[in-house]
Amino acid sequence: MSVLDLARPEIRAMQPYSSARMEASGGQILLNANESAWAPFGEAGVGCNRYPDPQPAALVDALAALYGVRREQLLVGRGSDEAIDLLVRAFCRAGEDAILIQPPTFGMYAVCARIQNAGVIEAQLATDFALDVDAVLAAMTPAVKLVFVCTPNNPTGQLIPAASVERLAKALEGRALLIVDEAYVEFADAPSMAGLIDRYEHVGILRTLSKAWALAGARIGTLLAHAEVIALLRRIMPPYPLPLPCVEAALAALSPPGQAQARGHIDQIKAERARMADALATVPGVREVLPSQANFIAVRFDDAAAVYQRLLAAGIVVRDVRRYPNLGDALRITIGTPEENTRVLDVLEQTR
Ligand SMILES: *Cc1c(COP(=O)(O)O)cnc(C)c1O
Repeated sequence: MSVLDLARPEIRAMQPYSSARMEASGGQILLNANESAWAPFGEAGVGCNRYPDPQPAALVDALAALYGVRREQLLVGRGSDEAIDLLVRAFCRAGEDAILIQPPTFGMYAVCARIQNAGVIEAQLATDFALDVDAVLAAMTPAVKLVFVCTPNNPTGQLIPAASVERLAKALEGRALLIVDEAYVEFADAPSMAGLIDRYEHVGILRTLSKAWALAGARIGTLLAHAEVIALLRRIMPPYPLPLPCVEAALAALSPPGQAQARGHIDQIKAERARMADALATVPGVREVLPSQANFIAVRFDDAAAVYQRLLAAGIVVRDVRRYPNLGDALRITIGTPEENTRVLDVLEQTR
């Protein structure tokens, strides 16, 4: 069996759109795409009179080197959000198939499934937010085509042990794709599980430049998966997904000095995370500081709503996560600069 047997048959059979940029190669006088022959006004638009490369080789190569995969195992999209959407659209038939998630977790998996009219099956995380592999397997039905696992998990911050992920990968073989969302793995004390894609054709890994690489505004996210899965998703992806200025921003960030800066910030965030976790634990009104392997900390308060409002009144916006299961008393606080973090602590301590 091929992993593509899990995909929607009409997507496999579809003839993809063939863009002017895909059909043309070489040439100096480009009169094939109805573009403007003139550069746009202003410095910011240099190069933008032409449609961009759908998957720019320089960016694909830089990301493949960064993530330790081969070019054909990688798809670059507008944030990992786009990869989630493409996966759901390619693998879930509307009104028939489903995804499986473990709440409390990132909201986009369910949103993309609902837009596609795919089912959303939930297997709750354990009360300590550990992944319960047996609960996931017990919740599996033949309709489930995609199982999303988020590690470190958003909004709780917990890392899922590699052994649990691998056990799930083995058990899902031939049944569903396992998509491991590693949006925050740069902040974790464990390595990426990207190596799984060489051993399991039904495993995909999501990575993003939005968090550790400071490029949320550029919308550059990546799916690492078997080459056939990547090729299938490219068929349904819009012809020119990546704006040229965003590609250039990503290439700058991935240059050697850009990488050095990102690593410095990651180290600083990890140190600040430890400082914040220790300090928050002593603040009156704090019930629990959840252990985090990400660039945020989820904190339980005696009165989370009041704390949220007090921080807001001081100009500090945190994320209210009380609507998530088992987080009815929690706020999620992103790690900022040392000065910003100290400000959070000052406001919380004033309110004892
Ligand atoms: C932030 C985040 C993403 C990244 O989304 P982008 O579209 O790449 O910005 C993906 N997954 C999780 C769990 C996140 O928290």
